[in-house]
Amino acid sequence: MAFVQWCFAQAGRPLPFRTASCSALLGWYRQNRPECVVGDPQPGDIIIYTFSHTGIVESVQGGGFSLGWFDEETRAFHEMERVEEARLAVAVSGGRLVVTAADSGRVLFRFDCSGGKALGIMPDGAGGKAQTRFEDCRWYGGFEFRPNGGKVNVINVVGLDDYVKGVLPYEMSADWPLEALKAQAVCARTYALLPSRHYGTDRFDVCNTDCCQVYRGAGQAGAVSDQAVEETAGIAAFYNGRYAETYYCSSNGGASEAPVNVWGNSQPYLVGKPDPYEELTYIPGYDYTMQYSWSQLTSLLKKQGYAIGTVTSARVSGTTPTGNVAEVTFRDAAGRTVVLTKEACRKVLGTKSMRFTIAGGGSAGWSVNRSGGRLASMDGVYAISGGGRTGLFGGGAVYAITASGTSVLRAPGGAASGGTGITITGAGWGHGVGMSQYGAKAMAEQGYTYEDILLFYYTGITLERISGREAESA
Ligand SMILES: [Zn+2]
Repeated sequence: MAFVQWCFAQAGRPLPFRTASCSALLGWYRQNRPECVVGDPQPGDIIIYTFSHTGIVESVQGGGFSLGWFDEETRAFHEMERVEEARLAVAVSGGRLVVTAADSGRVLFRFDCSGGKALGIMPDGAGGKAQTRFEDCRWYGGFEFRPNGGKVNVINVVGLDDYVKGVLPYEMSADWPLEALKAQAVCARTYALLPSRHYGTDRFDVCNTDCCQVYRGAGQAGAVSDQAVEETAGIAAFYNGRYAETYYCSSNGGASEAPVNVWGNSQPYLVGKPDPYEELTYIPGYDYTMQYSWSQLTSLLKKQGYAIGTVTSARVSGTTPTGNVAEVTFRDAAGRTVVLTKEACRKVLGTKSMRFTIAGGGSAGWSVNRSGGRLASMDGVYAISGGGRTGLFGGGAVYAITASGTSVLRAPGGAASGGTGITITGAGWGHGVGMSQYGAKAMAEQGYTYEDILLFYYTGITLERISGREAESA
């Protein structure tokens, strides 16, 4: 069976090849990397084609392969030749792709790539669960070898949910609670269905890095992560009848953020809101502090091209409605300022999240009721309990009692100046937009379903079955 109704093509790293005409090198390759030596080249006119690691595909189950091509439109596989060998080497030779038996070097098939055609390879039984080993990973589906200038793009052509199974363990731990994994599965599936950022130029839909989503095949999938994909099969996140942009990050530090405050774009379902769940679970490395001397800050800014003298003060000069950092202002002794906004605050300062405060030689301030009102210190400030009792805060850190214990309150605002530099105190990891993966874990641990999780992090979306040919492989 070598037919895929609807597939997602995915590119591995482009595989460069190089040429050489040294007989010693040929000898080395014959001995150590025979799969890289194609045909019977002679010293003087030899061409050694080598892929970045290996151009070998190997059937995990030990069956053979069908060779042919994938239809550009339907992505159906068309067989031209069948081979019994379980290990194939693929190399470029004069505008052709040459498939050899990796063990014997016998040439099995030559594929003419003129006119932009790409060689397709499908393992026997791919309609079931056949896996192919390539570059030390196991993959579902077939492969396309597509010449791209002087390189070959190797593209995994795989059914939607097999792709999602290969994303889940890399974007979220495969042993997390089922409902959290199900939420992640819907996010990953929906992302893959959005218009591709690669297809127009390279004719694959998603790459396998965090440019799109990390995808490394079937090797790390676990029973629970596979179950999460199967139990949400065919379900994606929609808003107004279109696929929702299901951004997610590791954690948000206590409040999610609208993308307009991070990247400048906006979507009605991506809104910033306090996240009461993250603090209910243990998150490694959640709280962080960083220190910069004034000279370190100065060179940091200068390296990024900002015109400023020695920095003498720094402050969070703007926060979003949920209290994340929107703007940071630096000032030098001559009064010149540099103002960072949106994601540049995090990128330039190298903080893990958008949720941090800056303190240092000067005094930090405390926001009052999130209204923009601000206190310079907690001296003389009372807290009022639900029963109307009041208590006076002392100096030093202020703690709030949360469901998981106590958290120190963080002070946004006030400029840090004087002293030797600044201390940045923050929480969370990532851009803060959309679903918090640790928040999803916490919600699942509290008994929430994946629908609850997704509807909390994506305001106003609907979860619906995908239709048409996208659904045929789900
Ligand atoms: Zn990408």
